[in-house]
Parts: sequence; structure tokens; C-alpha cells
Amino acid sequence: MPQTTSLPDDITWLGLDNVPRKFSVNQVWDSIRPRSICVNWFRIVWYSQCVSKHAFLLWILMGERLKTQDKLKSWEIHNVPLFCPLCKLRHDSHDHLFSECIYANKVWKKAVAFTCLPMVSNWKVVCNYLMPTAGRNTVNMVVAKLVFGAVVYAIWQERNNRLFKKFHHSKVKLFEDVFSTVRLKLMSIKFKNSAKVERMKTTWQL
Ligand SMILES: [Zn+2]
Repeated sequence: MPQTTSLPDDITWLGLDNVPRKFSVNQVWDSIRPRSICVNWFRIVWYSQCVSKHAFLLWILMGERLKTQDKLKSWEIHNVPLFCPLCKLRHDSHDHLFSECIYANKVWKKAVAFTCLPMVSNWKVVCNYLMPTAGRNTVNMVVAKLVFGAVVYAIWQERNNRLFKKFHHSKVKLFEDVFSTVRLKLMSIKFKNSAKVERMKTTWQL
């Protein structure tokens, strides 16, 4: 457009709210990105201290979209013997891997003992516990969410390693991996000093 004033020319972006803002890729993406209903669990998955690969897997888990063995039933594959690679007792599913499996249970219970989470090995119970306060940035909440993400990731990785790469880790090794992953992440986060933070540092050997 030809300039009719002496003011400098500028590019602005009219967002969804019809308010002109300084043009940026961020603004454009926010205007054109697909949107859907805001889910009530998103703060359990996405938060500033999250580990990206854990968050991505949790996001898929929340939608129950992991490719577990129970899904093969709907593909009508009947002649393949299916057993959970962790306990070998029955075919795996979201609820089996992250609630019922006796191998995974041991890892859950060792890990949640280091958090404010209830002593359960059930991902839906953990989600329901975290949901009301997941938006808080307290040290206990951050630790609980980090442990939740790390346990789910470790169990899923172990399941896939056994199924496709034919090697396995013990329950103790898996817990040690969870512990060191969360510990390393906690080392990179700055918390305000408090008695709770000091207790957390002692617990996680920081
Ligand atoms: Zn199992």
C-alpha cells in the first residue's frame, strides 16, 4: 500500500482475535495451526522442565495409541502367539504394560517411592492423582511428573528392545536408568531454596 503518512512502514499480522500484532513466524503458526479441544491432562505431559522424548511418548499413551499387541486382534491376526515380552504371561496392552505387568510393577514401585505419588503401579491412577495440581511448578510436582514420564518411557523401550532387538535388562537396571535420567534432569533445573528442595536434593543425591 502507498504510504500516506510519514510513519515508518511496518508489517503486522492480523491474528484470530483480529488484533494486529508484529509479524512473526510464531504469530503466523498460532493462527494457522490445527486446533482441537484442550484436554485436561496436557500439563502432565507438556511443561517447561519436561524431557521431550518422554513427553512425546506420554502424549501417545494418553490417547492409548501405542501399537500394543491387543491392537493386533482388530487386524484379525489370530495365529501369532502373543506374550508380553516383560512377563510372558499374556499379550500386552496399555493397561497391562503400565498397570498389571509384574515386571513393570517392580520398576514402578521402586521409582514412585522417590516421589509424592501414591504407591501404585497404575498409569491411570497416577494421572488422576497428578491432574488437579499438574500445573503447579512445585518441586514435588516436577519430580513426580519427571518420574512418571521416565518410567513409562523405560518400560516401553524395554518392551520394544525385547521384542525387536532380542536383548533385555533386569528390573534393577531399568530402575537405575530411570533414576539417573531423572537425576540428570533435576541437576539442570533451578529451584528456589526451601526445605522441600533440600530434601529432594538429598533423595536424588544432587
Ligand atoms: Zn507383562
